[in-house]
Amino acid sequence: MIVSFDIDNTLIPYGDEFPVEGRSPWTRLLGGEAIRRGTVSLFRALEDRGHEVWLYTTSFRSRWYLRRSFLAYGLWPKRVINGDLNTQVLRAHQCTASKNPALFGIDLHVDDSAGVRQEGLRYGFETFIIEPGDLQWASRVLELVDRPGKPRTIPGDNGRAAR
Ligand SMILES: [Mg+2]
Repeated sequence: MIVSFDIDNTLIPYGDEFPVEGRSPWTRLLGGEAIRRGTVSLFRALEDRGHEVWLYTTSFRSRWYLRRSFLAYGLWPKRVINGDLNTQVLRAHQCTASKNPALFGIDLHVDDSAGVRQEGLRYGFETFIIEPGDLQWASRVLELVDRPGKPRTIPGDNGRAAR
């Protein structure tokens, strides 16, 4: 399945919302932004299981800049959707949501925003909402993706998937 991840407050903190991965000489050399602790092993585990990992943000940072931040940790997400591309595609489909992963063929979108979750319920795409303070976030994503059948978001459950 294709799993996409939001950037701000999901994988990259605004401040000190969550711990970040350690920086090696390579990450320092490439620069970019620090990413959430657990991202590297989660992305690798998802890819090992045959899933595609994408980034999907409404931020207008360039796709190359975002790629560089993840490459600094040895990660190369299959596809990067930034604010420019998102606006272009949603406009073409006359969709007024802030994001619409279904239009890109994404099976599951991981985000911190309750608003995106509401949009998922309205526009029919699957979301998994992670609290910035959740230290078990990576194992929750893996658990959800590993579950047979399509993940489901339950209304009123703050984005936690059905069990
Ligand atoms: Mg966000």
